[in-house]
Amino acid sequence: MNVLNLSAECYPVAKAGGLGDVVGALPKYLKGLGVNAMVVMPYYERKFVSENKFKSVYKGSSKLGYRTFDFNILKETNNVLGFELYLVKIPDLLDRPDIYSYPDESEQFIAFQLAVLEWVVATNKPVDVFHCHDHHTGLVPFLIKYSAKFNSLANKVSVFTIHNAQYQGWLGWEKLYYLPEIDGAKGGMLEWGDCINPLASAIKCCWAYTTVSPSYLEELKHHSNRLEFLFELEQQKGIGILNGIDIEVWDPSKDPMLSFNYSKTTIKANKQKNKIELCEKFGLNPEKPLITFIGRLVAEKGADKLMELIREISLRNLDEFCFLILGSGEKEIENDLKELQTYLKNYNCYIGYDEELSHKIYASADFILMPSRVEPCGLNQLYALRYGTIPIVRSTGGLKDSVIDFENQGGYGIRFDNLELMEMVLALQRAIKLYQDQKKIDQLHKLMMGLDFSWNKSANEYHQLYKRLIKIS
Ligand code: ADP
Repeated sequence: MNVLNLSAECYPVAKAGGLGDVVGALPKYLKGLGVNAMVVMPYYERKFVSENKFKSVYKGSSKLGYRTFDFNILKETNNVLGFELYLVKIPDLLDRPDIYSYPDESEQFIAFQLAVLEWVVATNKPVDVFHCHDHHTGLVPFLIKYSAKFNSLANKVSVFTIHNAQYQGWLGWEKLYYLPEIDGAKGGMLEWGDCINPLASAIKCCWAYTTVSPSYLEELKHHSNRLEFLFELEQQKGIGILNGIDIEVWDPSKDPMLSFNYSKTTIKANKQKNKIELCEKFGLNPEKPLITFIGRLVAEKGADKLMELIREISLRNLDEFCFLILGSGEKEIENDLKELQTYLKNYNCYIGYDEELSHKIYASADFILMPSRVEPCGLNQLYALRYGTIPIVRSTGGLKDSVIDFENQGGYGIRFDNLELMEMVLALQRAIKLYQDQKKIDQLHKLMMGLDFSWNKSANEYHQLYKRLIKIS
């Protein structure tokens, strides 16, 4: 079975968040199940690309409206990832350092999708399933179904995974001419809300769509940035599969980014050693419980509530904890969090993206806070569990599916329901109190580190889905 994953991100080549983690891990686990899972992504000027060997496997050209562009498909040749990786290089379009946020982003991703399909058709590349991830690759199910140019692919299975439905890749109709000729009557399959909506189009045209947790599948019918009715309409095609984690990359006993590795039996001493080192660097007291937040500083993650919360908990429980934030995002939130540094001594933040620091924090912190408004799956809580860090989460999406409150049978985390200041203060106070009971903490460490959130189970669910769809194709 040949599955071609199309994605804007793939760890360790280029990652901005959970999408990169998933696309860098799932194919590896599918390989273990006998599936030839491959990844094709845009070419970025990144360290991984300059440090590894690639060879050109196809050169072609395509059209973005009146503009002809050349592209080059590069294959990674050392097989360092455990699956085939292809990069699409397009001069002056896909050969830049950043993944997102260029003004011509829609041109970049449309050209990427067209180049991939041109390559597959021209080389007759065996592909049984096109597995597209998020809106950047959302036009593929439409293009293979309805454009004459790619009609040799018309019966191919397409699966679309929604990592985040907030962002939909909206395009004005003036960009329709970027796409190859289609039967006019089919234009409606691109549309949602008076514009071309690649995420909505993918949901309409794919054979099946998946969400990265079962709860998120349900929630999308009620809150999905104006796609609620569509999710209601297409619900028979939807399936929720909880993300897993790559337990080779995220392994506290071997993680090369940690100063002190540890397992279930050595966590007590070595987590503290990592914490002392980290606290020294950030001017925090390692004797206090360390609470962290790692992630995008956006409202979706509840990051706009952090300042108020930290201020409030400082007033009430001054000297009982320390707080460290790693993240970047909206400038206003970044500035607020930086400002807090000037008057709180038990608090620090690092504004930016730093993979290594994130590993060190997972290994050092006692608690990780995730006050998300929306959380399709959330990987932070899964990494935290593996590193013996207790998650404090709002009960939503994947957080609901993966964290059980420690006061319930078999539980190990702290949950709260609403993004209300007092509910969050209470959750943090429960954490501070829990920290004082070191016997309970030791028990929870062992329980959390023994949980299996690896991809083994979820990769199998994707495999079953592919098999089912190929059978009816
Ligand atoms: P998202 O919605 O941002 O994709 P996820 O929880 O699915 O959220 O995944 C977030 C991933 O990105 C995790 O691997 C997390 O450790 C990582 N991450 C987020 N922000 C940063 C940062 N500033 N520095 C390093 N890693 C980060």
